[in-house]
Amino acid sequence: MAEDRHRDRRLAMVRRQIEGRGVRDPRVLAAMRSVPRHRFVSRTLVGDAYKDHPLPISAGQTISQPYIVALMAEAAAIEPEHRVLEVGTGSGYGAAVLAELGASVVTVERHRKLADAATKVLGNLGYANATVVCGDGSQGHPPGAPYDAVVVTAAASIIPSPLVDQLADGGRLVIPVGPPSFSQNLTLVTRAGDETTSKRFCPVRFVPLVEEP
Ligand code: SAM
Repeated sequence: MAEDRHRDRRLAMVRRQIEGRGVRDPRVLAAMRSVPRHRFVSRTLVGDAYKDHPLPISAGQTISQPYIVALMAEAAAIEPEHRVLEVGTGSGYGAAVLAELGASVVTVERHRKLADAATKVLGNLGYANATVVCGDGSQGHPPGAPYDAVVVTAAASIIPSPLVDQLADGGRLVIPVGPPSFSQNLTLVTRAGDETTSKRFCPVRFVPLVEEP
């Protein structure tokens, strides 16, 4: 009964917040209908899990707004078997959406507590194709490169060049770019050979990407 209630809320979330704002990719919509977002928040916030905003998680971080998770996944154009790097695991919810799309996902989180919690929930939900690494992802994760897509869920003041270097030919990087504490722009960088093109497509507000010295 409780699961049914979450399912109804989740379907309404996708219909109103995500399809209603123009996300069209049927595979992304199906993934957003499948992943149980309420499993990625604390018990006290379960009732808010399908609302149209980010929520606090531990270590002073956030689980992103569902619409933004879907928009980033759509922009990354994930196909089954793609190798995908996510920087900023947070709760693990975004990684679950990428894994639900059939990608082989490596997700990097600098807070040990979050990395451990995300490993646990992703394992409990059966996402064997998502691996959490604890560390600094601002320079990417060279052991898994090249990546068909890199999705960064924290804001960078400039696009870190190692993330572009770790893209496969034809690969896509989706990243919020702009000053911390202000609004940033979701930016799509596409690599073709040694050339890259970049396009801003949505104003957003993310926690900062911490760049270790
Ligand atoms: N995708 C997440 C989710 O679904 O819950 C939301 C992530 S939250 C908005 C951003 C995360 O990026 C935080 O957990 C933060 O600790 C992490 N982060 C910031 N800088 C980082 C870095 N250099 N390397 C790895 N993780 C980083």
